[in-house]
Amino acid sequence: MTSFEPTPDFAAQLDAQDPLREFRHQFHIPPGPDGQDSVYMCGNSLGVQPRTARAAVERQFTNWEQLAVEGHFLGDTPWMNFHERLTDATARIVGARPVEVVVMNNLTTNLHLLLVSFYRPTIARYKVLMEGGAFPSDQYALETQVRMHGLSPDDAIVELVPRPGEHTLRTEDILAKIEELGGTLATVIMGGINYYTGQVYDMAAITAAGHAVGAKVGFDLAHAAGNIPLQLHDWDVDFACWCTYKYLNSGPGGVAGAFVHERFADQPELLRLAGWWGHDEKVRFKMQKGFRPMRGAAGWQLSNSAILTMAVHEAALAVHEAAGGMAALRRKSEQLTAYLEFLITRLNLPKTQLEIITPTDPAQRGCQLSLLVHHNGRDLFEHLAAAGIIGDWREPNVIRLAPVPLYNSFRDVQRVGVVLAEWAESN
Ligand SMILES: *Cc1c(COP(=O)(O)O)cnc(C)c1O
Repeated sequence: MTSFEPTPDFAAQLDAQDPLREFRHQFHIPPGPDGQDSVYMCGNSLGVQPRTARAAVERQFTNWEQLAVEGHFLGDTPWMNFHERLTDATARIVGARPVEVVVMNNLTTNLHLLLVSFYRPTIARYKVLMEGGAFPSDQYALETQVRMHGLSPDDAIVELVPRPGEHTLRTEDILAKIEELGGTLATVIMGGINYYTGQVYDMAAITAAGHAVGAKVGFDLAHAAGNIPLQLHDWDVDFACWCTYKYLNSGPGGVAGAFVHERFADQPELLRLAGWWGHDEKVRFKMQKGFRPMRGAAGWQLSNSAILTMAVHEAALAVHEAAGGMAALRRKSEQLTAYLEFLITRLNLPKTQLEIITPTDPAQRGCQLSLLVHHNGRDLFEHLAAAGIIGDWREPNVIRLAPVPLYNSFRDVQRVGVVLAEWAESN
């Protein structure tokens, strides 16, 4: 990595060399207190709006207005197959074959649907391994899945926690725990990236270890999809789900994604919760008894598609693809995040005041840096907000900042550095 400098000129120079610099203009960046573009570093929570999103929804409003029920089969984008318009781009984002992905529902819903199929406890093999401090929705989903099988969460759920004095998990400890649980382990379900620390887990190694003891392995990719390159097929992951409103900019509560490895594509007997949209489409409208799932991930669909949110997702995916997909985004992302790290590190703050808990190794992180602020964290957060820098605050004392390569500039990051330096001086 080039050696960085904290000056606006240096940041402007990096921006001038950035092949993705124009993509920022394809989004609405919300204004800060001074009416100018804010420095939006919250794309890990809700991505900003693609400028094409509104027209994409309006197009479907027009179809609905003009075609009503005929819109399912007629018009420029028949709703009956609308979800298929999203398949190829989605497969590229998560490193899957088209048959392995489907866009449907919301993230937590998909997590439940997949756990129904991939958490199948028996008397001997009933444990599920997850990261301690997982996103609450994932914890609740797991807890209730376990209860659904008549098991006790305290007994069945095993949580991985960092070593004393450390903030993130060591891969060797994750793998050792999987081996230790051995034949009792039914399923591993972890984030691809932990939402709190920003740590990327070694999904390939975890999957291999899980398979070696006969467990199923899945990932919640809420913070990984659109943020880091993924190779779900090659890593041999069994199942995964993600939302699209974070790094994929597809709108609040937008439609989510699911992955089921190809080896399950032709297993209609694999237990699942079924709905008519997962039924073999050739005979779906015969309205007959007897569920016969579609091949692949499509066989997990329940309901007819949420067209309005899918229309936004399609528009957002087009921007992502135009930027060159994950490979191009990742190149810039590593540099942007390294620049933010540089600007924080050079303040030389004592660890007892502020520390970055996200790993320093670029392979173990995406966009996000999580700042653990031991004193006056809320004060720093408000100081940033007053300067038009939008990050987010996670109880009890973490500020998450995510410079996103699609729409953040080096100048944005440099501005964060200036405000942090001001705060450090007055504290
Ligand atoms: C954002 C996020 C969620 C949110 O779930 P929804 O069902 O989309 O509301 C769940 N899990 C993780 C890990 C997240 O980061």
